[in-house]
Amino acid sequence: MGIGGKHPVSIQSMTSTDTRDVDATLNQIIALKDAGCEIIRVAVPAKEALAPFKTIVEKSPLPVVADIHFDAYLALKSIEAGAQGIRINPGNIGGNKKVKEILKAANEKNIPVRIGVNAGSLEKKYWHSPDSNAEKMVASVMDKVKFFEDNQFFNIKISLKSSDVSQTVQAYRLMDQACDYPLHLGVTEAGTFFSGSIKSAIGIGSLLLEGIGNTIRVSLTDDPVQEIKVAKEILKVTGLRKTGIEIISCPTCSRTSVDLISLVQEAEKELAGFEPQKKIVVAIMGCEVNGPGEAKEADIGIAFSQKYGYIFKKGKMPEKIEPHRSIARLVELIKEFAGGETPPLP
Ligand code: SF4
Repeated sequence: MGIGGKHPVSIQSMTSTDTRDVDATLNQIIALKDAGCEIIRVAVPAKEALAPFKTIVEKSPLPVVADIHFDAYLALKSIEAGAQGIRINPGNIGGNKKVKEILKAANEKNIPVRIGVNAGSLEKKYWHSPDSNAEKMVASVMDKVKFFEDNQFFNIKISLKSSDVSQTVQAYRLMDQACDYPLHLGVTEAGTFFSGSIKSAIGIGSLLLEGIGNTIRVSLTDDPVQEIKVAKEILKVTGLRKTGIEIISCPTCSRTSVDLISLVQEAEKELAGFEPQKKIVVAIMGCEVNGPGEAKEADIGIAFSQKYGYIFKKGKMPEKIEPHRSIARLVELIKEFAGGETPPLP
């Protein structure tokens, strides 16, 4: 999977299993791939993880990036094991000589190295600088970029992570102006599913809307499969993925005469895992005020009134249906529509 240039923005995640447990790690990678993950990062924290890592790389259905801290030996051995990329913080890997060895090995295998700088682990020389944290992060990255380039290494990816959303956005904006290397976006240590999704959507989403970023990782304190769901939604709503289902639904009010919340949840459940190759906008609306308008605008939409739902297909004449049958019919029509032609009216 290519990153940068004309390649679409890719989704990545990181395994949360013990890398020494090959089966658990591979099972998680398969689950992540099924959810829509495109690149997987696996930590190699110690020598005992090297042999399992090799097996994981060989069997993984996704390209595997080795995540290494503190120990250049682990980076060299992970490259040897077939890693398709390496993520290091050049500031903590044991000095320039070690970094050079890693660059040489990565060059020989023609794999990228991601320079990952974290606001929480900036080098000492930046500690007392009057610059903003965003500026310090960019300066730190640019030091490393220069070192890489001086060593004839150009297969670079960059990340600047901070748990602060506005700092993250500022840093990536500055970075985008400073060089043309692919940027890996993410708000680090974003938190739980709820707060982390919001932080990531704002941080990653605003950068993507500005045309910044080549690959994204939503970082949540949760099952990594949830990260993929959020990442896919971010790409969908920023218009960068023209596939999948986008549900538009109203917040309900005193005009709502059906249990709209349950109906939308039912639709979401029925459509979970259904990934059409084109984007399909589905509207599920509670009454005749905004309902018909939204439902007509959508590819497939339903607007409820007092007793019935009215299903619209590409704005065409509605099909009248009882609420308890409505979602099953809606899902049926969506699946037919995904297959090609707009389904015929009854
Ligand atoms: Fe209320 Fe109708 Fe608007 Fe839904 S579409 S919030 S039911 S007015």
